[in-house]
This record gives sequence, structure tokens and C-alpha cells, in this order.
Amino acid sequence: MKIYNTLTKNIQYFETLKDKTVTIYVCGITPYDTTHLGHAFTYISFDALIRFFKYKGYRVDYSQNVTDINDRDNDILKRAKEQNVSWENLSSFWTRKFLNDMNFLNWLKPDHYLFASEQIPMMVVLIEKLLDNKSAYIYDGNVYLDVKKDKDYGKLSGLHEEDMLKIARDFEEDIDNKDKHNPLDITLWRKTEDDQPKHIPAFSSPFGKGRPGWHIECSAMAVSSLGEQIDIHGGGKDLIYPHHEAEIAQSEKATGKIPFAKYWMHTGQVSYKGEKMSKSLGNLVMISDLKEKFSANSIRFMLLSNHYRNDWEYTEKAMNNADKKFKDILQWIRSGKTRRFDPTYKLLALLEEDLDTPSVLKEIYENIGKSDPVKTREFLKVLGFDL
Ligand SMILES: [Zn+2]
Repeated sequence: MKIYNTLTKNIQYFETLKDKTVTIYVCGITPYDTTHLGHAFTYISFDALIRFFKYKGYRVDYSQNVTDINDRDNDILKRAKEQNVSWENLSSFWTRKFLNDMNFLNWLKPDHYLFASEQIPMMVVLIEKLLDNKSAYIYDGNVYLDVKKDKDYGKLSGLHEEDMLKIARDFEEDIDNKDKHNPLDITLWRKTEDDQPKHIPAFSSPFGKGRPGWHIECSAMAVSSLGEQIDIHGGGKDLIYPHHEAEIAQSEKATGKIPFAKYWMHTGQVSYKGEKMSKSLGNLVMISDLKEKFSANSIRFMLLSNHYRNDWEYTEKAMNNADKKFKDILQWIRSGKTRRFDPTYKLLALLEEDLDTPSVLKEIYENIGKSDPVKTREFLKVLGFDL
């Protein structure tokens, strides 16, 4: 199979690091809001990929995290305070909602589903290694990754420093913090301040009480669940910098193993009404709303009609169109009519080319009444349709 690797910026043949097992880590949710179509697109795209690997005879070891705690004050902790609930309750409520939505979409739950707040020991291990080999430093109780110690910093995003600074500011990476050697240095551990409000948790560590940085969390959870080197690391493309760039630097500097992830796969962004779907703009399309009107299969059909790497815009028209097309296919494969043409090989060849699901669905639709409905049905099941 060929896949596009963000790290090499090339379409490459896929080869596992060892034997017939694919290890894959996909960045998960920060649980303080409902699952929107952007999340569903990422996780259903990887769901199709994982199912395809299994169909091809690979064993898949799949890990995903929940960012239920991090060094930031502006997401889950802020929301918990506003709603006067604990971050633990807010996290478990929205994680349950997310899993319900994904379960509705016939999503294969990852083999490892890890909560950052329960994985602090591995984060501490990695931070200690980074301090030992001088890739990180402590200043006033906080621990930072020294990005200048990594000559290859930037190899994933390919960004220049000025662009990194711009994006880091948008991500609230604390670039004005004068304690850092370099504004782009990454917070690995944020200490608990003396006057810190009670709703902010404090975890114990050899560096004092505090919270782990968002980026070191994923390095640690990937290592603890899948090992020091993994085959595929995935996520939305908005995570390339700084999140994934930092993950590579932290993991490779801590373990000494290069590459941390052999292939980096990133999904496109979903927009609605002309803008990227985001909480701040309030233009979210929720799975919980769509499932009132459409079947899981129709929603999956609409999602997989877009190539995983492309940005695309959600429209009601496209959703209705996908619903109608899927119903037409369903009616045909249930009709019991037999046709001799076996579409399997052609459809497989399309998936082999960087998981070209849009072409697969187009091919199936255009061959209604022409190809073998039983074989078509089996193929749709490979892509996670519930038939
Ligand atoms: Zn992550």
C-alpha cells in the first residue's frame, strides 16, 4: 500500500517496522464539548485505514488518548470552572458522549484508550531523560524542552522560525515567557503556583507539584502503549505544528530512537459556511444532530466521499446526496439480483493508493446493477459500513 508521509512529503510504500503488526497512534479529543464533524472525519478516516490493514492480514495495535488535563488554563479547566463542575466530571461526561457518537458511527474503539491524567509516571520518565541529557532545563520550577538542542527541529512541518512563532502564538504556547531560553521552547512541566485556584489540579513529580505539557503527554502515551518507535502517527493537520513537531523532538531526544514514528498521516480540515469548523466561530455540525436525521452508514458515506488528506466543506446538500446514494446502493445489494463482475480487485487497488475512499464509493455507485452485489456488500463492510 502507498501512503502520503508528512515527514518525507512523499507518497511512500508502507512497510511496518517489524513483522505483520501495525502500531498506530492517533491524537484524541480534549473532552469539553460535543463531537463535531471535523473530529468524526479524522477518526472515521483512520477507522477505514485500520480496517483495511486488518483485511490485508495485519495485526493492528491502535492507541488513542484523551487530553483530560494539560498545562493550559484556557480549555477544559476554564470550561469546568464556568460550569462549576470538576474537570474529572466534565471530562468523563464529554468522553462518554464522544464514545457514544463514535459507537453510533460503527467505530472500532482503539486497543489502548488512555487518559493523560492517568499516565503521569511515563511523562515524568521522559522528562527526566530529557533533563539528564540536557535536552531540557528547569527554570523556577518549570521544565522546558530546549528546541535549539535538536538540529532537526522543524523537520515535520518544514516551517521557518518566524512562521513557527506566529502559529505558536495562536496555540497559546507561552512565547512571551522570558524564563525560556528561546520563545519556541516547549513547556514539559508547569509548576503549581502558590496562589493557584483550587479547581486546577496538581500532580506530584520529582520537579515539584504541577501539570504536564500537552505535547509531552502524547509522546509518553505513545511510548507507554506502543513502544519507543511506532509505525504510524496520525491526527488532524492543524496538529502538525507545534504538537507533532514537539512530540518528535521530545520522543527522539528522550529515547535516542529515530524515527519516533515512521509515517505521519494528517487529515484535512472541515469547514462549514465558508469557515473552518471551530468552537470559537460557533459553526459546528454535531454528530448528535446529524444522527437524528441520517443513518450511521449515510454519515460514513458522506465522510468517506472526501479524501482523508483534503480540506472540504460540509453542506446539507452533500449530506442529502450521500444519504440518497447510500440508499440506492443498499436497495440494489438487497435486491438479490446477481451479476458476474467482481469489483473487489479494482476497489482494493484504489485503497492501495493512499486510501482513495472517494474513488471507491464513486466506483461502487456507478456500478449499481453491473457488478456483483454480494462482493460489493463485502467490500463496503471492509470500510466499516454496517450491513
Ligand atoms: Zn497528541
